[in-house]
Amino acid sequence: MTKLVELKSLEDEMAANLSLPLCGEANLVFGEGDIDCDVMFIGEAPGKTEDLLKRPFVGRAGKLLDAMIQELGWKRSDVYITNIVKRRPPENRDPLPEELAAYKPYLTRQIGLIAPKLIVTLGRFSMNYFVPEAKMTRDHGHPLLIGGQVVFPVYHPAAALRSTQMMETLRGDFRKIPDVLAGKLVPEMPPAFVPTVTADPYEKKGGRKNEGKKGGIGPRQEGLF
Ligand code: URA
Repeated sequence: MTKLVELKSLEDEMAANLSLPLCGEANLVFGEGDIDCDVMFIGEAPGKTEDLLKRPFVGRAGKLLDAMIQELGWKRSDVYITNIVKRRPPENRDPLPEELAAYKPYLTRQIGLIAPKLIVTLGRFSMNYFVPEAKMTRDHGHPLLIGGQVVFPVYHPAAALRSTQMMETLRGDFRKIPDVLAGKLVPEMPPAFVPTVTADPYEKKGGRKNEGKKGGIGPRQEGLF
């Protein structure tokens, strides 16, 4: 089976799973873009416009995402875009833990099929899918290596639309994406996963493994995803 056929069959399987939360209340928004992309963007859940058009990130936040992708000299069609929760929660509320849990296995399979070199998470829900302990204020803009997958957390574009400062931060993080992809910014282990074995037991714990070292995105390893 080709990748395209496998993705279509995953989408059909999701559509046929009537026990998924939000089924019957909103449309399935599976994802779109280049299935052979280097970079995959993962957001939280579709909003109103996404639900209507059955396409991810096509509302206001999506227009900002498109603009930021274009500022890198890329096109939206060069990347793949999806969400963890693939149906719109009512009134755009945050996804509930049981919704995240129900949709997660499908995202895991979607990532496995697309196998991007780099995943850019948009907002805390998709970041926490990879690293439950991660904190947006601390971890945004730092590439992480999780089970062989390079993940780059950034703020959600909708948050950037509400704050000039966050817009600047998001733009600054976006500018790093080509360097992360080229391996010029070394992915670190998530802070919570860094072994705290030090020669000096009184040495301050924490910090980031590999901070400042040079390296690159190596071949994909078998890992968690
Ligand atoms: N916000 C998201 O997280 N995803 C979308 O598709 C649109 C807005």
